[in-house]
Amino acid sequence: MTTTPAVRRGADWLLDSTAPHDVLTPEGLSDDHRLMAKTATEFVDQEILPALDRLEQKDWTLARALVKRAGDLGLLGTDVPEAFGGIGLDKAAAVVVGEGMGGSASFSTTFGAQTGLAIIPILCFGSEAQQHKYLPGIVSGDLVGAYCLSEAGSGSDALGARTKAVRQPDGSWVLNGEKMWITNGGFADLYIVFAKVDGEQFSAFIVERSFPGVVPGKEEHKMGLHGSSTAPLVLQDARVPAENLLGEVGKGHKIAFNVLNYGRLKLAGMCSGGAKFVMREATTYATTRRQFGQPIASFGTIRHKLAEMTARAYGVESMLYRTTGLIDEMIARGGHTPAAALAALEEFAIEASLLKVSSSEMADFVLDENVQIHGGNGFVRDYAAERHYRDARVNRIFEGTNEINRLLVPGMLIKRALKGGVPIIAAAKRLQEELLAPPACAAPSGTTPAELVAATVAGMKKTAIMVLGLAMQTYGTALEEQQEVLMLASDIMMDTFMAESSLLRAAQSAASGSPTAALQADAAAVLTHDAGLRADAAARTAIQAMTGGDTQRTMLAALRRLLKVTPVDTIAARRRLADAIVNRKGYIFV
Ligand SMILES: Cc1cc2nc3c(=O)[nH]c(=O)nc-3n(C[C@H](O)[C@H](O)[C@H](O)COP(=O)(O)OP(=O)(O)OC[C@H]3O[C@@H](n4cnc5c(N)ncnc54)[C@H](O)[C@@H]3O)c2cc1C
Repeated sequence: MTTTPAVRRGADWLLDSTAPHDVLTPEGLSDDHRLMAKTATEFVDQEILPALDRLEQKDWTLARALVKRAGDLGLLGTDVPEAFGGIGLDKAAAVVVGEGMGGSASFSTTFGAQTGLAIIPILCFGSEAQQHKYLPGIVSGDLVGAYCLSEAGSGSDALGARTKAVRQPDGSWVLNGEKMWITNGGFADLYIVFAKVDGEQFSAFIVERSFPGVVPGKEEHKMGLHGSSTAPLVLQDARVPAENLLGEVGKGHKIAFNVLNYGRLKLAGMCSGGAKFVMREATTYATTRRQFGQPIASFGTIRHKLAEMTARAYGVESMLYRTTGLIDEMIARGGHTPAAALAALEEFAIEASLLKVSSSEMADFVLDENVQIHGGNGFVRDYAAERHYRDARVNRIFEGTNEINRLLVPGMLIKRALKGGVPIIAAAKRLQEELLAPPACAAPSGTTPAELVAATVAGMKKTAIMVLGLAMQTYGTALEEQQEVLMLASDIMMDTFMAESSLLRAAQSAASGSPTAALQADAAAVLTHDAGLRADAAARTAIQAMTGGDTQRTMLAALRRLLKVTPVDTIAARRRLADAIVNRKGYIFV
């Protein structure tokens, strides 16, 4: 392992070590960030939650009014330059606001489509005229935006879209096709529509609802998110002026995929915020509901759940702010331009995918356990637990399904390695040589509990490199067909990034004398221990699929040398976490 390079690149954490003071953590946020967080949570508590029943009845006039109100409060343009009506803060501010909106149920989806999916394409790819024409309205909330990529026959396979655009002799465009599952679709004023010019060149257009031939379809009947509009958009000889082509013909994929990189980061913020919001409900219920003469929060089963919910949320939060800090650092180096933002989002696309998967699965776990803590009351509509559960399920489906995001992670990494970006191939070769040498590195380094736990992460990194190296060697260019192996590699990387981010944050908090430092160390130790065991199982499964005979025995022996999971009394650590959660009646960090 080398030390962190001055310029940090996507996925370099897999090969390099990072100093605790080099990561952004929630504890390290500025007063401006905290003010934005307060504005967002007060808006949710005072204006969204009291309006929830009406939103669930699809009162889109109210939804529009709340979008406008969010604009008035500055929440829609947190990271949009002041020239377009925004506040011009960094991505950390946008993530903080996203977290605050996480408790707002369906409205967070309305909000996410407006702030991420509608603004970013115009901000990063629009002409100056398009930016000045549309951005101030979206940022103020006078205009509602939507993003139309999916179609009935092409969701994950977004480039397989069939919507067509044909250029007219006067330079304008005629669009035909049908977009599906469009968030804000029922009441948006403005749609970012992807269509193929002459059925071939994937391109993007800014389509106003008032253009002839633009017809929003009927609302979908969904499992959850009843207060968020999801509708098709039908384009029947829709007339789009020449100047509403967004970016260049044939370059629509760049817009589509980069917007999703940002959407994934923001979704992670909302999942993180939503999970923490629900923890308040879970602990309040657990401390008031009595069975067998005592609060259910006194039972080990429930305390385990509360502690596990907290630890997992801590892990996601740690990854989220670490990634956001890396993105902001790169944007600042690039002079705070939209082009710099785009480059940074692309650079940290691997981390965004890891975050999308881990945050949505963490949120599902938390919301599922919240139902369980509520028992029968969790299954009936008198309590919010069942709605949270339904509302969250889609997070694993949109912004790229979790399967697609899992596959993207090793895919992007290997592509970068082959282009000379991330030197994973050289690292795999070095590791092979290290493994052939006598076992000098068997004992974990360090003596303090934190150092010993950190040794697990060092082993996990090597495990990830070993599995990726073996997979490339075994399958060569046919590796992309081995999805099961790719998912295992992705999971090891996700667990590694989560464990290391948590340990770095806990170490930073210990160094700064934070009052929750000991509990943070517990959360990080629990996460790292369990992540190490999962990585070991995943690596074994992959090795057993890729090898046989002597090679398999050698590889499994190598794995035993590389990955030694430091023993941790996770039951005792979870009990300490549970005590603090029950006392605080909610999430205990920050
Ligand atoms: C409430 C809601 C809001 C939405 N909002 C928007 C929006 O605003 N704009 C928009 O454009 N879209 C939106 N979508 C659509 C969403 O992005 C798609 O549903 C999603 O991308 C999945 O596509 P699909 O539904 O066609 O599933 P499919 O692509 O058919 O996938 C079905 C299953 O197969 C798996 N799969 C597919 N391809 C592969 C592969 N190559 N390898 C391995 N596994 C694979 C998937 O992971 C999934 O498990 C929304 C959807 C919902 C439900």
